Amino acid sequence: MPDTNFDAIVIGSGPGGYVTAIRAAQLGLKTAVVEKDKVGGRCLNYACIPAKAVLRVADIVSEIDDASEFGISVGQRSIDFSAVLERRNQVVSTLTGGVSGLLKKNKVEVIEGEASLVPNKLAVSVNGTEYSAAKLIVLATGSVKRPIPGTTYGGRVIGTEEAWALPELPERLAVIGSGASGSEIASAYARLGSKVQLLEALDRVLPAEDADISKVAARGFKAQGIDVQTGVLVSDVASSENSVSFKYGESAGEADWVVIAAGRGPDVEALGLSEAGVKLDERGLVEVDGTQKTSVPGIYAIGDIVPGPALAHKASEEGIIAVEDAAGLSTHPIEYPDIPRATFCTPNVGSFGLTEAQAKEQGYDVVVGKVPYGAVGAGTVYGDRSGSVKLVGDRKYGELLGAHIVGAKATDLIQELVNTKALEGGYPEVARIIHGHPTMSEALAEAARAADGWLIHG
Ligand SMILES: Cc1cc2nc3c(=O)[nH]c(=O)nc-3n(C[C@H](O)[C@H](O)[C@H](O)COP(=O)(O)OP(=O)(O)OC[C@H]3O[C@@H](n4cnc5c(N)ncnc54)[C@H](O)[C@@H]3O)c2cc1C
Repeated sequence: MPDTNFDAIVIGSGPGGYVTAIRAAQLGLKTAVVEKDKVGGRCLNYACIPAKAVLRVADIVSEIDDASEFGISVGQRSIDFSAVLERRNQVVSTLTGGVSGLLKKNKVEVIEGEASLVPNKLAVSVNGTEYSAAKLIVLATGSVKRPIPGTTYGGRVIGTEEAWALPELPERLAVIGSGASGSEIASAYARLGSKVQLLEALDRVLPAEDADISKVAARGFKAQGIDVQTGVLVSDVASSENSVSFKYGESAGEADWVVIAAGRGPDVEALGLSEAGVKLDERGLVEVDGTQKTSVPGIYAIGDIVPGPALAHKASEEGIIAVEDAAGLSTHPIEYPDIPRATFCTPNVGSFGLTEAQAKEQGYDVVVGKVPYGAVGAGTVYGDRSGSVKLVGDRKYGELLGAHIVGAKATDLIQELVNTKALEGGYPEVARIIHGHPTMSEALAEAARAADGWLIHG
């Protein structure tokens, strides 16, 4: 007979669920995690990690292609796409194996199967067996792809997860949606050699980013040969055996594969939420308070099924808050705008907080500090003068309202500014913190000086 009594049961083993389970076990709770597919969730198996593994290959290809600038001549290079996929799979299995090991080390029981809530009890049902939770249940079931209106998935019309698992390098790829996922896919495949069209309904790529960042990113995409079409609605998508035809604006297009990268929705259908009394908001996301509690006592929800940006690190943090709250520790709600956002296309994009336009709309006395990477020595030494850093601050108290970086290592560089804000520092402090030389991080200090009115290099 399996053990069916736990303190904590977590449904879903993605970055939300597995981190929650480990934290619960650390706090002395007897914990189980239920997974209907693979340990590690979508993030490790199909999304974040495979995406970054393939993007890494594209980055190496770019470095090889740019090698002559550094005095290196490279013969004809070629890509063995099956070897690329093999490495991608190896990366995934190393990391998912690591998660399984961590769950085991922390004595978290992994229950295989699809879980649903048992109404009026703190319990879940999996494959006909009921498991009870003495303290809490955490819903961490993530999200699934959603088509854009007028389209359906099937044949050669695929979602972003499938885009990172194509069996061979496509000759022609069309990507609908130039948010983070769409831009990553377009930028990877274009540099690997596919002919890529990036189709965006709004008037710029990466439309959630600051407008200045979108401009630099669009220039980078075009330099990679991506056919960027903004302000176009895609319609009449029809998949045949070898290709997909579609319309965008007044034009007709055709590709080997069409990737819809324009939105996802919560994976909650199997959970039996309405029978259990768990309330959803108008967008179908699970309603939670600042400690991730749902409308039902003892049931918490985290990750892609609750409001906020759909990001792995956000899911993990919410899980930690949920179990710490249930264990009686004091927690504080997440400052959602200050979660770092990272887009791993080339050029790399990292940001947090408000864009300049949002800060103005919110009535701040906005100050902007902007410098190109070329303003500091590192930009020239390492070969990226076109990147740029933009800080958005509030003049009144020197507060950092947001930061926006586009260019090499932006996804790593952004963390310094996130940390500064979390530790209640502002741009005047960043301007006076000593940064190592020659590093790209000096561009952050210069942007802070620019905001503070005393730019040195520029
Ligand atoms: C292509 C792509 C690339 C991305 N890249 C990044 C990135 O670089 N960085 C980043 O921060 N975010 C990225 N994201 C977003 C990130 O993947 C999600 O925000 C993250 O996976 C959410 O974590 P989660 O734990 O909520 O859910 P998931 O990772 O989706 O895991 C949920 C798990 O729950 C399981 N499950 C669902 N229902 C049940 C049930 N009833 N019973 C049992 N198990 C169930 C599922 O099988 C799944 O394994 C990307 C997303 C995509 C699609």
